[in-house]
Amino acid sequence: MSSLKIKNARVVLHDNDLIQTDVVIRDGKIAEMAPTLMVKTDRVIDAKGQLLMPGLVDVHVHFREPGFEYKETIKTGSQASARGGFTTVLAMPNLNSVPSTVETFKQVQALNQQDGVINIDQYAAISAGLTSEEVDDIQALADAGAVAFTNDGKGVQNAKTMRDAMRAAASVDRPLVAHVEDESLIDGGVMNLGQRSAELELPGMDPLGESSQLARDLVIAKATGVHYHVAHLSTKESVNLVRIAKQNGVNVTAEVSPHHLLLDETDIQGDNALYKMNPPLRAPQDRMAVIGGLLDGTIDMVATDHAPHAVEERIVLLWERPLVSLVLKQVSNSSTPTWFVQVWRH
Ligand SMILES: [Zn+2]
Repeated sequence: MSSLKIKNARVVLHDNDLIQTDVVIRDGKIAEMAPTLMVKTDRVIDAKGQLLMPGLVDVHVHFREPGFEYKETIKTGSQASARGGFTTVLAMPNLNSVPSTVETFKQVQALNQQDGVINIDQYAAISAGLTSEEVDDIQALADAGAVAFTNDGKGVQNAKTMRDAMRAAASVDRPLVAHVEDESLIDGGVMNLGQRSAELELPGMDPLGESSQLARDLVIAKATGVHYHVAHLSTKESVNLVRIAKQNGVNVTAEVSPHHLLLDETDIQGDNALYKMNPPLRAPQDRMAVIGGLLDGTIDMVATDHAPHAVEERIVLLWERPLVSLVLKQVSNSSTPTWFVQVWRH
């Protein structure tokens, strides 16, 4: 029987009270909690007032291996996660090669197991190259261990592809995760279409690109019965659609990214690619809507969309940079430990 005492920890209780406590763990289970525990244990860790909490789970990270190791590797990405308090992450499939077949899926899975310092569950793609209209062999990929299916980074443009993928995912009882974006409404945009894009005289992406494809997906999700999960919800209209869908019994969950909770398009001071991401920072009323959605349970979770890029890819103008996601890093230091994420700055 092994035992461990963690002393001088700060623990958040269910009612949000923060208490200072000692915790004794025996055989992997919490046995006792009290301000001062004098019991003898095999090991003692002095938390020195740091937060003690269950390991965090992030359902949306992009580790860049294989294919883009100059941006990040599975080792460095999982180490950053661990430092921020995450013990399980779900890794996106926009890699090279894309895990679209059992063979390519198993290659990524083996790398995750070999180099990851935390639990890494791997998404498989919906379709080859994230753009094909032909749905992958969902059954075989589920058998190989795919945690769920997504073409994140790209919206599924074809309703038939989405319908067939949802049917297949439902049949193997895996979630279908959607990056909703109708490419016909991007209009060459580099930021949200709205007041700020007009002020900066930069082309904008119509927020209808997100909500219109989401509306399509919710209808198909209801018909197929799949567990449909929306990645990085960012518009007021999208929050309303998910709220109504939940009321109508659609099996839908949704996530929001920290940057869409913390920032909006008015934070973009000029033509600066550090603020370029997809979905883009939206209008202030969209930010208020996602905060409201998180508070009332329409949005189920915060997910980072951790998606690093090389420095030389960031110090450019909005026009020049490929449209991808914001760079985030988990931060934690001894004086202000936090699991949250911070906008990465030079
Ligand atoms: Zn995405």
